[in-house]
Amino acid sequence: MVTVHRPGEARAAARHRTRVTLLGTAGGPPWWDGSDRAGISTVVSVGDEHYLVDCGEGWGRRFRAAGLGPAGFQRGLDGLRGVFVTHHHSDHLVDYPNLLLLAWHNGADGLRRPIQVFGPGDRGTLPPVFAPERRERPPEVFHPESPTPGLVESTGRLLEAYALDINDRMRDNAKPDLREIFEIRDIPLPEGTGDDPNGDPAPEMSPFEVYRDENVRVTAILVDHRPVFPAFAFRFDTAGGSVVLSGDTGVCDNLVTIARGADLLVHECIDLDWVEQLIGPGSETPDPNLMQHMLAAHTSVEEVGPQAEKAGVGTLVLTHLVPANAPAGKWRRAQAGFSGTLVVGEDLMTLGLD
Ligand SMILES: [Zn+2]
Repeated sequence: MVTVHRPGEARAAARHRTRVTLLGTAGGPPWWDGSDRAGISTVVSVGDEHYLVDCGEGWGRRFRAAGLGPAGFQRGLDGLRGVFVTHHHSDHLVDYPNLLLLAWHNGADGLRRPIQVFGPGDRGTLPPVFAPERRERPPEVFHPESPTPGLVESTGRLLEAYALDINDRMRDNAKPDLREIFEIRDIPLPEGTGDDPNGDPAPEMSPFEVYRDENVRVTAILVDHRPVFPAFAFRFDTAGGSVVLSGDTGVCDNLVTIARGADLLVHECIDLDWVEQLIGPGSETPDPNLMQHMLAAHTSVEEVGPQAEKAGVGTLVLTHLVPANAPAGKWRRAQAGFSGTLVVGEDLMTLGLD
């Protein structure tokens, strides 16, 4: 059974050993007028140990506000065990540098073991140019030496950019070697999957294990967030229950496969009516490029309920809301086609699993 705790009920929420805290529930890189939702980020907790999924804008302050770590000077991230990145879109990663550079000032420099960080590997090939006939010429490739890096490489490059700060902290403040605080890995795909990211980015497959410790077993599956590849959904199985985080995806059989029978499905959602009014063909500002991305790579409020129903999950929580400033009533339409409990996500909402 899943118990919903509204923002501000952190103390009651902490009574659940296994729980999920929504840090940020806004989708997309735009700033949304009239909304204070932070960028997409979620934490799965077992006791005092935490597993962060995605690092959208503002996750750090929300983590603090959620009371997930000890308060006090240079404390907070003491219990962070793992970080899981669903895909390499900026709205999921823009505050990843905060994690890398601020963690050792906020509780992570005395950890008994490194924080385990997992994310997608190199895409391997550039995505196609959409509707090239409408472009005067194809865009020039950015950083052609390595145009589609995976997490290990992009992390290395980020840290290089901050070399002055890192050397200063280690030499002047006697901070431990930053490279020993994190262990960063690209998630290897099972052999024979994902050979053709420009064809089918989410071929039929079984979930595969990414990480395991005494609290959690984390499995992943490819989802369809074309042309982004690899894009993962993650499942956390714990003694207290199971939760699946969809990442960003269009309607996709693999999502149903990994979510089957989970207690809780935390799923992305877009309001397609709003998209059509804003950028559809009949609108004042049609944007066919963005429109086709929204249709193919995201799940609408009408589609998400039937997906959850197919998977047989008990509770569906909507997050990564686009637009983030839509009234809650819009999202409640997702109940259509879903016989379980629907929850419209809010920042700092906690879902207790046990
Ligand atoms: Zn995305």
